[in-house]
Amino acid sequence: MSADDSIRASGTSSATVLTPEGKIATRKASCSCGKLTVTTKGPDPERRSMCHCKSCQLQTGSAFAIQARFPREQVTIESKSTAWKFPIDGAKPVTYRSCDSEGATYHFCPECGSTVYYELAVAPDMIGVRVGAFTDPTFPPPMISGFEEYRFPWALNVAALPMPGGHHD
Ligand SMILES: [Zn+2]
Ligand SMILES: [Zn+2]
Repeated sequence: MSADDSIRASGTSSATVLTPEGKIATRKASCSCGKLTVTTKGPDPERRSMCHCKSCQLQTGSAFAIQARFPREQVTIESKSTAWKFPIDGAKPVTYRSCDSEGATYHFCPECGSTVYYELAVAPDMIGVRVGAFTDPTFPPPMISGFEEYRFPWALNVAALPMPGGHHD
């Protein structure tokens, strides 16, 4: 199939491309400035997770992280990234449990700092991609939620927030 046979999903600013049958052909994840991109081919992976561990909180600056693991051969990475490894070589071991305790390498844009993808030592054939980097709400939801003992109690309870439908300034 050539690129001309595919159509962009309408109504979004995302770079999800559908086949004429409406199946996912490619998705594109990007950093904030757009220089570092990851294009994924084919069907969305089963391995989609939400993680509340402290590593994910520190690494994203958010209450939790959402990611999907794609087989390496389905992933095309464009532009240079800076890599950061956890655990840090020579550092004292951390006192908490985390999803990356076996070792992970995070790849972020040297220009804007967004982490777009990562590699896990336990799954060398896979590339983890941050789901938010697809900026496409049609991305299917996570299958599992991990490390909930570290969860911010209000996270995922939008209806209980003081102004659930509001915008912050
Ligand atoms: Zn960037
Ligand atoms: Zn985690």
